[in-house]
Formats: sequence, structure tokens, C-alpha cells
Amino acid sequence: MWSPNHPPRAIAIDGPAASGKSSVGQRLARHLGYLYFDTGVMYRAVAFLAHEQHIPPDDAERLGALARTVRLDVLPAPEPPHYAVRADGRDITWALRLPEVEATVSAVSAHPSVRAALTEQQRRVGRQGRVVMVGRDIGTVVMPEAEFKVYLDASPEERARRRYAELQARGEPVSYEAVLAAVRERDHLDSTRETAPLTRAPDAIYVDTTHLSLDEVIAHLLNCIERGSPSPSSGKGGPPS
Ligand code: C5P
Repeated sequence: MWSPNHPPRAIAIDGPAASGKSSVGQRLARHLGYLYFDTGVMYRAVAFLAHEQHIPPDDAERLGALARTVRLDVLPAPEPPHYAVRADGRDITWALRLPEVEATVSAVSAHPSVRAALTEQQRRVGRQGRVVMVGRDIGTVVMPEAEFKVYLDASPEERARRRYAELQARGEPVSYEAVLAAVRERDHLDSTRETAPLTRAPDAIYVDTTHLSLDEVIAHLLNCIERGSPSPSSGKGGPPS
């Protein structure tokens, strides 16, 4: 099995919006010297380009064509958010957190045509190994063969609180209630869609981060890696069905 000297080749982290996937994934990747790859930015990129090109979120055909033809590059960057996203060579990192994107990304990403195109690109990255990949369907669909899988969760209220604090820090005028409603809406769409819904892989460690600090989550996961066993039952909290 694994050890600190032989960590798992591929790590899959899934979970709902603002459950801590990005922070945990980035820290774990830095610790192990692995590539950090947030698949959410690809869905956000397609949602942004669709918005720009006036393609409605229910137009599966045009959205699929867009996802198949656009060249998306996700590159590491020194400044937060520590990555740059380019669409056909144009930097669109700044646009991925726009409210328009937030509002449509779950509908856009529910189309099988969009998912097929992006999943293929994500698998190519996964096959190179030494990667921490983060998303909704990584352990179940994109890299079911990943040796170490994590499902991060937290209560909707706590996740909304975290997202609200982020938005406040960026000076964006939103109410906590609106953020909570958006989190709930995205949870619902992401977990009830037909193709690759958000769900916990049976062999994923379940960690409820509601009452845990980032350091505590990282320590717990590194401990699992050191013990050399994913031990799904070691999660802190009850697993969702
Ligand atoms: O993780 P993030 O909030 O950036 O993801 C944005 C949206 O992209 C999610 O709400 C979900 O609809 C979609 N997504 C997905 N599958 C992934 C990653 C993200 O459907 N692997």
C-alpha cells in the first residue's frame, strides 16, 4: 500500500460547493508535490463562454459543440487563486466567479454532451498521475481507479457562511440568505442530475468539515495516507447515501 514515500498516484476529491475541496486539494497537492487540478473551472469556463456567446443554458447541442471545440488550458500561477484558465489562448480566470457564471454553471454542466467533452480532457490529465483532482464526479466517473478518494462535506449553512465570507472579503454586495439559497440550489441540481451526479464513491473517505479547521482536515487525510489504507469508515461524521 502507500506510505509517505509512496503516496497514492492519483487523489480524487469530491463534494458539494464550498465544502473545502479547493483549499484541501491545494494543500494536499503542495504537500505531496502533485499537480492540483480543479475541474470546476472547466465547467465554469464553458458557462462563461456560453453566456458571452448568448447560448442559453438549455441548448445542449450548442453547449456540447462549444465544450468540444474550445481549447481550455489550466495553468499553475504564483498569485491566488494559483491557477490561470485560458480559453483558446485568452485568459478568462477573472470571469469564472461572476454571478452570471455561478447562476448557470450547474445547468450547463448537467448536459451529457458537455460532460463527455470535459471528462475526456480531465482523464487525460489524470492518466499522467501525481495529481490531486477536485470536482463532483472524480472518484465515481472521471478517475474511478484513483487510489485515494475523499468526499468532503459540510452543512449547507456552514458552506454558505464560508462563501459569504469570501464574497464579503472581495467587497461583493450579497446577503447571507441569498448565498445560502444559491448553495442549496446548486446542491440540488448537482446531486439530482442524471449524468454523473454528485455522490460519494463507496470507497471514498467521508469527512464532514463543518466543525474542522483546514489543518485538522489535512492532518486527518495525511494520517490516512500514512496508514496506507483509505478506510472509508474513518470519516468524521455520517456518510450521505
Ligand atoms: O467546484 P465549483 O463550485 O467550481 O464547480 C462549479 C460547478 O461545476 C458545480 O456546481 C457543478 O455544477 C459543476 N461541476 C461538475 N463536475 C465537476 C466539477 C464541477 O458538474 N467535476
